[in-house]
Amino acid sequence: MSRTPRVFVHAPLANGQQLRLEGEAAAHLGRVLRVRVGAPVTLFDGSGVEFESEVLAATRRTVELAVGARREVNRESALALVLMQGICRHERMDWVVRKATELGVTAIRPVITERSVVKLDPGRIPARIEHWRAIAISACEQSGRNVLPDILPPLPVLGALGAHADATGVLLDPEARGGPDSLAAPAGTLCLLVGPEGGLDAQERAAALAAGYTGVRLGPRILRTETAALTGVTLLQARFGDLG
Ligand code: SAM
Repeated sequence: MSRTPRVFVHAPLANGQQLRLEGEAAAHLGRVLRVRVGAPVTLFDGSGVEFESEVLAATRRTVELAVGARREVNRESALALVLMQGICRHERMDWVVRKATELGVTAIRPVITERSVVKLDPGRIPARIEHWRAIAISACEQSGRNVLPDILPPLPVLGALGAHADATGVLLDPEARGGPDSLAAPAGTLCLLVGPEGGLDAQERAAALAAGYTGVRLGPRILRTETAALTGVTLLQARFGDLG
């Protein structure tokens, strides 16, 4: 089944506009998908709506489009869910960002932990955020989301807890007593804190519990951090969001 390609545009879109794409988006449409004049392309700018468009000209480097009708299509979950992910190895972190975006998280907060194997060089943090944002954009193009999740700046555990102090917190913790069924529906935003490969240390865990986070155990096995994150997001979306 061929699907109309979806492309994120980094500037506000409007019906009647003519648009020239360059760079990766144009290369994907022109070189990989080999779109022809007249082909439909769906565009979105992150504002929550999408636009029909039609190819006016395409080369291997540039694609020109006529922007058409605006469509109100809401594919966002009713659950405001922030994934607070202990920073893990690059390929795992990338996978978590992609899959959590597909599953409809509102925001991802990378969390710097004592046991994180990956130590982010402060000078490279803006580039890392851009890298994760590009992955989230690609996941939105693929999954049909018209709103990008916020990729928030990395913070240490205490800072992250403080930054989301108004939210209801859930800590994925292999030592917790209760499972996901023990959770009550959140009144507002829900934050899901997941440890990195080596888990959270005792102080970080105690800080989360002191901040009111409910520990939740996902069965008797120790899951890899990325499995735990995606399982947690899936269960929360199924109970309080739009899965199922
Ligand atoms: N020995 C580490 C510990 O005890 O936390 C294991 C870390 S685990 C590989 C990485 C993270 O995934 C954990 O910090 C936790 O947030 C989550 N996790 C893994 N298995 C879990 C389980 N069965 N229940 C709840 N959380 C789990």
